[in-house]
Amino acid sequence: MTTNTDEFWMQHALSLAQQAERQGEIPVGAVLVKNNEVIGEGFNQSIMLNDPSAHAEMQAIRAAGRKVNNYRLVDSTLYVTLEPCAMCAGALVHARVARVVYGAADAKTGAAGSVMDICRHPALNHQIDVESGVLAKQCSTALSAFFRRRRKEQKQLRQSTTTLDSTESVMPSMDK
Ligand SMILES: [Zn+2]
Repeated sequence: MTTNTDEFWMQHALSLAQQAERQGEIPVGAVLVKNNEVIGEGFNQSIMLNDPSAHAEMQAIRAAGRKVNNYRLVDSTLYVTLEPCAMCAGALVHARVARVVYGAADAKTGAAGSVMDICRHPALNHQIDVESGVLAKQCSTALSAFFRRRRKEQKQLRQSTTTLDSTESVMPSMDK
């Protein structure tokens, strides 16, 4: 069941996603909460760190592990703006996180129920409660706005390259 508390922390995760966006990363933010206190937070930094594992959830888990000085993060809840992928869901199981609350579903790589369900896989030795769709609209709008803007920028870049090419092709004829 979604509560005001869930929405409060999702709002916090959204503000972390904005930090990722400001640095040109796909806007995903995550915060790990225990006893209503932040024990770790992070945002997607894969490009900046040249690290395919630097997803928001991984950054939050790493920060929390350092803070509580333990590799197990029992009784904690992870709030993340986008459904975790297989890597992150696997790490959350390793960390024994109790609950995952996510905003937007990920139809391509979601591993908390959309494509597969690593969080609640019956064969694993730990299952995580999953709550989906908290502030889903804000979370998915942030992502789609980012991709729309990036497509536009790439199109402009292609167009400016084309202009440059045509200028170059004029150059040899000027030499004659
Ligand atoms: Zn991930």
